[in-house]
Amino acid sequence: MRALAPIQMLDAWDGGRDLGRAARALWLIAIGEPEWPKSGLARLTLGQRDALLLELHRLTFGDTLEGSARCPACDRRLDLTLEVASACFGPMPTGPVDPQAPPTVGRVEHDGWQIAFRVPDSTDLQAIEHFPSVDTAREALLRRLLVQVHQAGEPRPLNAVPEPVLAEVAMEMESLDPQIEVVVDVVCADCGHGWGLLLEISEFLASETEAEAQRLLYQVHHLARLYGWQEREILRMSSARRKAYMELAD
Ligand SMILES: [Zn+2]
Repeated sequence: MRALAPIQMLDAWDGGRDLGRAARALWLIAIGEPEWPKSGLARLTLGQRDALLLELHRLTFGDTLEGSARCPACDRRLDLTLEVASACFGPMPTGPVDPQAPPTVGRVEHDGWQIAFRVPDSTDLQAIEHFPSVDTAREALLRRLLVQVHQAGEPRPLNAVPEPVLAEVAMEMESLDPQIEVVVDVVCADCGHGWGLLLEISEFLASETEAEAQRLLYQVHHLARLYGWQEREILRMSSARRKAYMELAD
């Protein structure tokens, strides 16, 4: 994984803006890991994907995640800071994924049910992107991941699995792919309400690259118009040099 240089930052924004959420996350990884075959990226588990995105954030923007959230109790907007290291739970993949490799399969036994399930990857996420609500999408995702279902030793249809058993599947999935869901404990400084905030690093990184790309576009626009330089020349400058020219131009 390598940091996004200014030229890649514009590629990340430009090539990703018309993609769905799942495809955009893979597009960012493809820019950070240009030697990895693109065909295997969708087969990274979602936890592996997010571990790579956290590393891409760390290399490009530093060790800290800075964002904001609204308190669900009093609606106050809170500034939040999180160290990248404290959001890392799973091992980071060190090489490309073989697209032909069999998926990771987990097993759950609960209340007489025996379930075999897959750990989700980006192809699963793409399949549920059109769902209107988070809850229906989550249930559809869990049902999609079921590989084999038995009740008291007898095979049962996949859609027969009741909600509490699906919840057990979700818990076991997290233990197999710990980076899959990172929840940050937040306490409101105003009213004292505490809640768990889901860290969506793919969306976080997409909005960071968008903001940084807009800053770079403004600088290119300004300096190209004033000095007649090419976009690539301006983007290849160090940020200190670009900033100095911007100050002189002002
Ligand atoms: Zn509050």
